[in-house]
Amino acid sequence: MESADVVIVGGGIMGCALAYQLAKRKVDVLLLERETLGSQSTGKCAGGVRQQFSTEANVRVQRLSVKLLEAFEEETGHPADFRQIGYLFVFTQPQQVEDFRHNMDMWHRVGLTEARWVDPAEAAKMVPVLNVEDVLGCTFCPTDGIASPADVTSGYAIAARRLGARLKEGVEVTGIDLAAGRVQGVRTSAGEIATRMVVNCAGAWAASIGRMVGLEIPVLPYRRHIAVTGTFPTVPRTTPMTVDFRTSLYFHPEGDGVLIGMSDRSEPPGFVTDVNWEFLEKMFEQAARRAPALAGAGVKTAWAGLYESTPDHQAILGPIGEVEGFWCAAGFSGHGFMQGPAAALLVSQLLLDHKSEIDIAPFAFERFARGALVTERNII
Ligand SMILES: Cc1cc2nc3c(=O)[nH]c(=O)nc-3n(C[C@H](O)[C@H](O)[C@H](O)COP(=O)(O)OP(=O)(O)OC[C@H]3O[C@@H](n4cnc5c(N)ncnc54)[C@H](O)[C@@H]3O)c2cc1C
Repeated sequence: MESADVVIVGGGIMGCALAYQLAKRKVDVLLLERETLGSQSTGKCAGGVRQQFSTEANVRVQRLSVKLLEAFEEETGHPADFRQIGYLFVFTQPQQVEDFRHNMDMWHRVGLTEARWVDPAEAAKMVPVLNVEDVLGCTFCPTDGIASPADVTSGYAIAARRLGARLKEGVEVTGIDLAAGRVQGVRTSAGEIATRMVVNCAGAWAASIGRMVGLEIPVLPYRRHIAVTGTFPTVPRTTPMTVDFRTSLYFHPEGDGVLIGMSDRSEPPGFVTDVNWEFLEKMFEQAARRAPALAGAGVKTAWAGLYESTPDHQAILGPIGEVEGFWCAAGFSGHGFMQGPAAALLVSQLLLDHKSEIDIAPFAFERFARGALVTERNII
């Protein structure tokens, strides 16, 4: 029977980054992906990388991710296409300004000193298509930006394989065997594998992997849309990622066009990823209000993918006390591409060194049982 020291379930950004970090530390690792690497949420994502979160833990993790992405090519030999064009959060409600004043204090305290306030006039200079009529203020962080989900995921995957990790596509994990409360192996569509350690990196499907060991992991799938316009020189490639915080509408330059996204906050959870064109019309109405010039941009392509949301919009990282040898790195709640690089390093450190360079206790699964939830509020 095939065996591995660690089996990773899921080959999105999280699984591939973790395979790399473990292989780098000489762990015998086997990653199983039922589709193809990076084809699910990771392949559908907008590529945004920001540090402007509301919880300190997320800001610290994100600062590490930014450092890892800056050094990605040197580290893995592959480009990340990380372009630090900045993120501009746009506020139109007094409460948002108040909340982000607190955020700004915290950001500066934890070292994100480059983040700053931008007034409407400056915002209009930075993003000339922006309608600032009702804008009260904005926050801007110049070290935020966008990276390529395909490049980062495949870069980690190739580097992991080079270091000896086995990454298999088209293999579905169908069950996990336990004995005396600890992991003994996994059952798959391609046979059984003996292992004493499984890491659940199954993204929006993390709950189904949890059920294999009798656990309820609170991750729910939510459909999220993106549209990309044709060539649109009015939004040059240096334009920051711009977020209208009230509506969740965001846009950033994508190739020679513009990528536009928005969350349908009224849609219930579900695994459907067909494009809802009626919702896209609403998204374009909002886009035309916030950036009127975008009304004239034709849609070149559109798609939908899944957010993988937890009740507090924070990831679940680390061991799950109830089952020995079962760990989780999932539930990133729509910010997993940007958190994957840091999360993988921190989880590998916790596993191998019993402590990580940033404390990931705030992301522990046990917080749900304790009812100690600290909600991440800066979600899009
Ligand atoms: C429209 C949209 C825009 C987004 N924009 C951003 C953004 O700008 N920035 C950002 O950071 N994040 C963004 N996200 C969120 C981001 O895409 C996710 O948080 C991230 O990709 C999660 O990575 P993952 O590896 O955990 O999950 P995934 O990429 O979904 O990988 C999980 C994998 O597990 C596999 N799997 C599931 N069950 C099994 C099984 N039984 N056996 C084997 N394999 C299995 C799946 O096939 C899948 O490939 C966006 C998401 C969407 C949908």
